[in-house]
Amino acid sequence: MSQNGFLDSVMLQLEKTAKIIDLSDDTLEFLKHPRRALTVSVPTRMDDGSLHTFTGYRVQHNDARGPYKGGIRYHPNVTLDEVTALAILMTWKCAVADIPYGGAKGGIICNPNTLSVGEKERMTRRYTTMISPLIGPYEDILAPDVSTDAQTMAWIMDTFSQINGHQTPEVVTGKPIQIGGSEGREEATSRGLTFCVKEAMKLSQIPEKGATVAIQGFVNVGSHAAQLLQENGYRIIAISDSAGGIYDADGIDVVKARTFKQKTRRFKGFPAKEITNEDLLALECDVLVPAALENQLTRDNANDVKAKIVAEGANGPTTQDGDELLNKNGVLVVPDILANSGGVIVSYLEWVQNLHREHWRVEQVNTQLEQRITTSFKDVVQESKILGTHLRSAANALAVKRVADAVELLGVWP
Ligand code: NAD
Repeated sequence: MSQNGFLDSVMLQLEKTAKIIDLSDDTLEFLKHPRRALTVSVPTRMDDGSLHTFTGYRVQHNDARGPYKGGIRYHPNVTLDEVTALAILMTWKCAVADIPYGGAKGGIICNPNTLSVGEKERMTRRYTTMISPLIGPYEDILAPDVSTDAQTMAWIMDTFSQINGHQTPEVVTGKPIQIGGSEGREEATSRGLTFCVKEAMKLSQIPEKGATVAIQGFVNVGSHAAQLLQENGYRIIAISDSAGGIYDADGIDVVKARTFKQKTRRFKGFPAKEITNEDLLALECDVLVPAALENQLTRDNANDVKAKIVAEGANGPTTQDGDELLNKNGVLVVPDILANSGGVIVSYLEWVQNLHREHWRVEQVNTQLEQRITTSFKDVVQESKILGTHLRSAANALAVKRVADAVELLGVWP
């Protein structure tokens, strides 16, 4: 049993998918194991002069379809199992999006809230140095994830470039625009999610205008999703962060809530009813967007979900048991590897721009994102009709088939 069950759940999904698509035992065996998992010590000089050694990971799951690709997260609960599960999900996500990348993930066990900017920078640069033999524009490309951002990517890019003696923007995506970042990358995951919600609403025949939405998590993915959905006519009735949330049946002004939170670092005191994260997940609404961490919808609370659609902004927010209950209750679940693939799609577009030393207009980026993610959504719906399954199984089937084809064509050497 893996530490929080997340890796078990990802493995179970792979085994279930293997049966659905009649995958050979050899290819299943190949795909079950990450190609590499690196654990590094990250000695860091703290502001008080002391030395603290953090532990970091980089797991590379599969590169049959292209270089490894995946974010890095800073969180106290990071484990090797969690990073491995997330690396595997990245392989499937890139395959569903049909972009030429494999899957990887990284992380450092730390509490980012207690680190100063200087400490974060020194920790990030040392981590980059420690994993530098394994990363590169054609080897493994990093991106932001939980508690990492464009500034973190700038530090990684600079450290890698210093080691290699030339500027290498294409080793990271999600970096600031001034140093090669793409227009539209910051909100790309949420914009992609918004396109998926639009398609899911069509599928469920629910009108978008005035549809109600509850969102768990309110920084990168959650806050941009709230704003974009509101701009598209949805009513955001609840939002939350790790300390709890707020609810207003008439709709929350997302921009005001974000400004309030940026100033006070919390929602407490904002003119709306306070609610807990558990209450938020069980709200009567059209769309629920878990956009915080994994294992939020489980066998203990999935029966309480009253949303008609769950669009998974986070990676792995629903456990296997939770998923079965949602399916049984007729909730349309747009799975993570599809719903939040907008980030990696625009990361791919950023990488392409970097390799060609080009900078595209935001309209060009957003148009490509919409076309690509809408095509993926339709591919998954089509697959679900062929297989007679829910969207998650269909997305997994499509992804594993694409990766398995590449693995089998390349063969196992020697
Ligand atoms: P973030 O750090 O910007 O935001 C995470 C949010 O979740 C914060 O508001 C935090 O307070 C909240 N949170 C943390 N623990 C919580 C808890 N127990 N209950 C409720 N809220 C809690 O992270 P992010 O980049 O927005 O990532 C969120 C999720 O989306 C992760 O699963 C990540 O892997 C996934 N994701 C992110 C991207 C991206 O581009 N950033 C892309 C794809 C998927």
